[in-house]
Amino acid sequence: MTAPLRTDPTTVPVALGERSYDIVIGRGLIASLGSRIEALRPRARVFIVTDKNIELHHLDAVEETLAESAIAASQLIVPPGEGSKSFRVFEQVCEAIIAARIERGDLVIALGGGVIGDLAGFAASAVRRGIDYVQVPTTLLAQVDSSVGGKTAVNSAHGKNLIGAFHQPILVVADTALLDTLPRREFRAGYAEVAKYGLLGDAAFFSWLEANWREVFAGGKASGSGAREHAIAVSCRAKAAIVARDERETGDRALLNLGHTFGHALEAACGFSDRLLHGEAVAAGMALAFEFSARLGLLPAAESERAIRHLAEVGLPTRPKDIAGGLPDADAVMALMAQDKKVKRGALTFILVRGIGAAFVERGVDAAQVRAFLSEKLAER
Ligand code: ADP
Ligand code: ZN
Repeated sequence: MTAPLRTDPTTVPVALGERSYDIVIGRGLIASLGSRIEALRPRARVFIVTDKNIELHHLDAVEETLAESAIAASQLIVPPGEGSKSFRVFEQVCEAIIAARIERGDLVIALGGGVIGDLAGFAASAVRRGIDYVQVPTTLLAQVDSSVGGKTAVNSAHGKNLIGAFHQPILVVADTALLDTLPRREFRAGYAEVAKYGLLGDAAFFSWLEANWREVFAGGKASGSGAREHAIAVSCRAKAAIVARDERETGDRALLNLGHTFGHALEAACGFSDRLLHGEAVAAGMALAFEFSARLGLLPAAESERAIRHLAEVGLPTRPKDIAGGLPDADAVMALMAQDKKVKRGALTFILVRGIGAAFVERGVDAAQVRAFLSEKLAER
């Protein structure tokens, strides 16, 4: 394999007082992980949590850079997939960290996608009442979303992410070359969250994505264009700004849920399976949020259509009929929406839009209108 082209790293600071940290973004950055850790925590030992797929592609490179800085490392490899966000695997991770004699002052490294970040971050928050951790996100979704904001969790039998903690990493190293081995469908699903930052608050970024998304997908392997790095940095900056204003999700942070109310209901309707990945559900959910907003007269239909066109162009689902297999009826989808933890006292809270880049939180959305809209969309199949 040829050595990946390197780009100059971009640093995005996440300003959270004593819990502030940097996200460093660049192609080929993994080689600097050891020296970055050595600079932050001299003589710390590390414990790597990763999954089987990532072990195959990237664990060697991580071990190599740690060895170069003479950092002692041990590891646990868990099965890939959402199933690992369970109490059982959480217990295994905690016990393995303790067995490896990781003390306060040492570090956990979460090497993986959203699943590993949530699982390893939560274990780090709990073992010895909290040890520090470094995130090395290996999916686009994790680089632009899960690695900012410190939310960690495992799933309960009652629902996803119901058991967890806010625990900020001390450093995030986002090597964009790690995404070269990511299956295209996973990359595309993560891209939905990138587009989300444009759609919710940055019209200029959305226009840039319309013109440059192919380069973002290609990753500058040949040209070294830096488009992928730019898209990730803008996304992280957008999320970091929102999280810095609202670390514990009481206000503004809700804007990040654009597309997620409809999206979660569709995801749940598909049983959180491979039929519909999280980012795919978010894309369909954003398309529905735009169309519903246009229906309410909040923005011109043509602008909503422009938003939806881009999502469709990159190959993301934008209509219920783009989702393979059957879906339940509008009443059942409404019921799934009401189960969402973001629903307060029966009132539907939605993130609606007044245009591309102009999302807002609406707490009193009329359920009957949503139901009528949904049953129309579901009937299009
Ligand atoms: P997400 O970040 O989307 O929540 P996961 O942690 O579930 O996702 O990862 C999605 C899938 O992609 C998993 O099967 C995981 O093992 C795999 N994966 C993660 N990162 C990479 C990578 N860089 N190369 C190849 N496969 C990867
Ligand atoms: Zn999301």
